[in-house]
Amino acid sequence: MKILPNSTIGILGSGQLGRMLALAARPMGYRVHVISPVRGSPAGQVADVEVVAAYEDLDAVRQFAQAVDVVTYEFENVQAETAVTCSHFTPIRPGAHVLRVAQNRLREKQFLRDNDLPVTAFAEVNSLADLEQGLAVVGCPAVLKTAVAGYDGKGQVKIDQPDEAIGAWVMMGGKTAVLEAWVDFERELSVVAAQGLDGSFAHYGLIANEHRDHILDVSVAPVLVGSEVEQTAVALVRRLMERLDVVGVLCVEFFLTAAGSLFINEIAPRPHNSGHLTIEGCLTSQFEQQLRAVCGLPLGDTLYVRPVAMANLLGDLWQKGEPDWTAVLRDPHIKLHLYGKKEARPGRKMGHLTALGESVVEAEKRVREARQLLSER
Ligand code: AMP
Repeated sequence: MKILPNSTIGILGSGQLGRMLALAARPMGYRVHVISPVRGSPAGQVADVEVVAAYEDLDAVRQFAQAVDVVTYEFENVQAETAVTCSHFTPIRPGAHVLRVAQNRLREKQFLRDNDLPVTAFAEVNSLADLEQGLAVVGCPAVLKTAVAGYDGKGQVKIDQPDEAIGAWVMMGGKTAVLEAWVDFERELSVVAAQGLDGSFAHYGLIANEHRDHILDVSVAPVLVGSEVEQTAVALVRRLMERLDVVGVLCVEFFLTAAGSLFINEIAPRPHNSGHLTIEGCLTSQFEQQLRAVCGLPLGDTLYVRPVAMANLLGDLWQKGEPDWTAVLRDPHIKLHLYGKKEARPGRKMGHLTALGESVVEAEKRVREARQLLSER
């Protein structure tokens, strides 16, 4: 079913991804309702309606779903009951199956392995004994991650030596975890792609990502254009999206080794931080693409108008008060995005900067220099 302009889209989740989706939906004439546990959320500030309720409040979820024409989400940890409740009243895209796979690292890795998609060696861990056994198979270094609700490096611990197993297991707090082999990667790359209701497919090629303290720091694109790595990565993403029957946008994070092998680290069935650079960098942003896909419209052209780079702005930059935005905007190439979050905590994503350039090297230099100005005060 097509959801045409002038209809209302519902977003589960109220953070920056929902905000940027709402901002992409407005010019095309859509109304936006969000559901948020707190009033005045980043997405709620720019939506037509912000329903303030817990995601587990199924009465509120029911009312929310009844008032919209399609539901999508901006985080994958939506409880199954919330998604099912929505689906009784309106399409939810991507569907419940995708959520089930993406919200549990173990299920995700099993799905990847079962579908011949490249994933590092891993083992399920429910006890210290499992962990010790897993380490014997996977080897050291390895990384132990909670199966659910981990992001930006939260809920994960590196294990360099077998005798670190006890400490690592204690950190999991008794929760099911996944032990994975450490990948000595050369680069981290991602592919953001979309699949339409009619099976059409569009992608933004390879985006190169640098993390700091497990949090995405800087992304640049397009990279390795036309390379074998790009062709392989895009083919893997396409297969994955077909198998998962995704309608919407999905991001796959890859590790690329020096030998040229690709491993899938993670999948996110929604727009992704590494795709924020598509807002200025591409004819169609990842958010407009999500809107088009979940509404059953034709997908937009993903052409890069120029090479582009994005740098995240974390709460740490607010330590000495509000950053000096005038300084950063003195470079006319810089675009500033702030997410309207009231409290700046260290490590919290507060906004990002984007710069276009004649090359990705130039764009990256610009965006890094601009951000540097903010930390020099
Ligand atoms: P994640 O939350 O799983 O995306 O992990 C956050 C970051 O930790 C990744 O982007 C990598 O930089 C690093 N990391 C996670 N898992 C591994 C691994 N198996 N091998 C090497 N680095 C990893």
